[in-house]
Amino acid sequence: TPHTAQDILAHLGAENVKFLRLQFTDILGTTKNVEVPGSQFEKALAGDVTFDGSAVEGFTRVEESDMLLRPDLSTFLIYPQFSREEGERGRVARLICDVTLPDGTPFEGDPRQVLERQVARARDLGFEMFVGTEPEFFLFERDETGRGSTVTHDKAGYFDLAPVDKGERIRREIAGILVQMGFEIEASHHEVAPGQHEIDFRYAPALETADRIATFKFVVKRVALEYGLLASFLPKPLPGVNGSGMHCHLSLFRNGVNAFADPEGEHGLSSTARHFIAGLLEHAGGMAAITNPLVNSYKRLVPGYEAPVNVAWSTSNRSALIRIPAKRGQSTRAEVRMPDPSCNPYLALAAMLAAGLDGIQEGMEPPPAIGRNIFRMTVREKRHHRIRELPTDLREAVDELEKDPVIAGALGEHVLDHFVAAKRAEWREYSSAVHAWELERYLDLV
Ligand code: GLN
Ligand code: MG
Ligand code: MG
Ligand code: MG
Repeated sequence: TPHTAQDILAHLGAENVKFLRLQFTDILGTTKNVEVPGSQFEKALAGDVTFDGSAVEGFTRVEESDMLLRPDLSTFLIYPQFSREEGERGRVARLICDVTLPDGTPFEGDPRQVLERQVARARDLGFEMFVGTEPEFFLFERDETGRGSTVTHDKAGYFDLAPVDKGERIRREIAGILVQMGFEIEASHHEVAPGQHEIDFRYAPALETADRIATFKFVVKRVALEYGLLASFLPKPLPGVNGSGMHCHLSLFRNGVNAFADPEGEHGLSSTARHFIAGLLEHAGGMAAITNPLVNSYKRLVPGYEAPVNVAWSTSNRSALIRIPAKRGQSTRAEVRMPDPSCNPYLALAAMLAAGLDGIQEGMEPPPAIGRNIFRMTVREKRHHRIRELPTDLREAVDELEKDPVIAGALGEHVLDHFVAAKRAEWREYSSAVHAWELERYLDLV
C-alpha cells in the first residue's frame, strides 16, 4: 500500500479512482464525508481542503466555521465496489482525517484527536494500548418501500428451506469485503438472538481499531442495504432477547511486550494490569455515557442477557463488567463487556484508556475478582463484596460523567459540553414521549 502523498496520487491515477472521500467523525459518532473529484486530489492530500464546520451538528459555532481536513495517509484505501452502478461511476477511495483550524492547530471538537491525546499520554508513560473488539448487530427485513423493521430474517420463515440462511450469506459477504479492505477477521458467527450476528477482527493499536470500527459499521450497513436488509447497531432492538454489545479487549504493551502478563502475579497478572483494571472499575460509571450513549443502551444493561450490570471483574464469569480471558503471555488482556456498538469508537476507547491510565498513575488496587455469577447474588452478598451497579439510565450516566474529572477531562471542554447538551436534550425528548408500554400498562387501569 502507498504511504506518501506522491505514492497515493500515482496510485489513484493507476487504479482509475474518480472520487476521494475525506472522512471524519462527529461528536455523536456519525461518520461524515467530504467527497472530492480528481481535480482536487492533490489539494486533498496536502491537507488543504476546507469545509464548513458549522454544518456539522454540535461541531462548532458559526463564527469559527472554516475547518481543514488533514488526512492520515496510513488510512488510505480504495473501496471495493458495493454495486454495479458504483462501478460504472468510477472507483472511490477514502482517507480518514484529523480536523484542524485554518491555522493548522488541532480542532478540540474532533473525537479522533481526543483519542490521539490519550494515546500520547500512554506513550509518555511507556505504553501502547491494543484493542480487539467484538461488535454485534442485527439484520432486519425492510418493507416494500425500503423502510426498516424489527422483523428478523430468521423469523421471517421464507428462507428456512435454504441450505444457508440469508443472514449468514450476507455476513459472509460482509466478512469477504472487510478482508479485501485489509481487515483480519478472526471470527464471524450468528449470535444468541434471532437475526443477530457478530464479526470479530484482529486487535491493533487503539487508533487503528477506532478507525476500523467506524469503517466496519459503514460496510455492514452498506452491504445489508445492497441485499435489501437493514443492519442495526441499536443496543437493544428486541425486548426479551440479548442485545448487541461491543466487547473491547484491552491490553497494554511496553517495548513490544505485553505489560499485563506476569506469571508470578496473582491470576498471572502484573501490577500494571491490576491498576488498569482498578481504574476501569473506578471510572465505569463516568464512562457509561460515552461507551453506552443512547437511551436504548440502558435497556441492554439489565440482568440475564450476558450484558453487565455490576461493576466487578472476574477471571471466569461473563456476568462481570470485566472478564480476563484465559490466555496469558502476549495475549493477556482485559475484556470490557460494557460498551455497545452505538458508541463513538474514538471517545469510547479514549475514555477506557484514560480510566485505566488513571488507575496506573494512582496505583489503584481492584477488589478481589468475583468467581460466581453475580446475577445470582443477593443484594446483601453484593453489598458484602462492595459491588456497585452501572447507571440505570442515560440521565444518571450523564450526571456521573459530569462528576468524573478524569473522563470529563479526557474529553476536553468542547466535546464534553456538546456531548452533555446533546444527551440531555435526547433524555428530555424521551421522557416527554408517551411510550407503548405506558398505554398498555395504565390506560385501562386508572
Ligand atoms: N450480546 C451480549 C451483550 O450484550 C454478549 C453475548 C456474548 O458475546 N457472549 O454483551
Ligand atoms: Mg464473541
Ligand atoms: Mg458476542
Ligand atoms: Mg466477548
